[in-house]
Amino acid sequence: MSDKITRSCIDCGMVNCDVGNKAYPNFCLTTENGDPELMDAAIKEYDDEENKRIMLNAAEVEYEFYCKMTRVEETIEFAKRMNYHKLGIATCVGLINESRTLAQILRSHGFDVFGVACKAGAVEKTEVGIPEECKAVGVNMCNPIHQAMRLNKEETDLNILMGLCVGHDSLFYKYSKAPVTTLVVKDRVLGHNPAAALYTANSYYGKIKGKQ
Ligand code: SF4
Repeated sequence: MSDKITRSCIDCGMVNCDVGNKAYPNFCLTTENGDPELMDAAIKEYDDEENKRIMLNAAEVEYEFYCKMTRVEETIEFAKRMNYHKLGIATCVGLINESRTLAQILRSHGFDVFGVACKAGAVEKTEVGIPEECKAVGVNMCNPIHQAMRLNKEETDLNILMGLCVGHDSLFYKYSKAPVTTLVVKDRVLGHNPAAALYTANSYYGKIKGKQ
């Protein structure tokens, strides 16, 4: 790892791009020191019809239900406004009960739901070169590429990710043709609330930091 730190938004104490009542730091990505051409290119992408619909509906759901709806309800509201009919669930087997409940809720709102568990296919880990010792936490591999390909085959309009492991989620995002929204982020230690490690990193859980 390099010792050199390139300053960016994560080093900013101002966040003036939010409300505009402070000052911009000298490394700010909003000012000329950023990349105005890149910003223009990003803004232009919202001319794409699908991107525009997603952006407008997401913004309206955020605005209309700010601090009023749970994430599950926001997901339903967003999917309805997008006129999505078929929803995919890519679930970890460890969250199959929660995914079943989610499917019941989604079906009660009229959606067609198709779920694929991470272990579907029951392929042993060693078949793709995962070391034998990894079988200690489960013989069969998680197969996020299969989950995505199967949901692609089902022609889902939106895929909902339910607690896939770190990296497995990356592969799912990479292979999913439909847009993906994440409902549950797996954290086996913190009850699927990884932010708790961040809330306590400067106090009780300081050991999480590497060498400073
Ligand atoms: S865009 Fe500028 S003001 Fe906003 S967080 Fe990044 S550095 Fe800070």
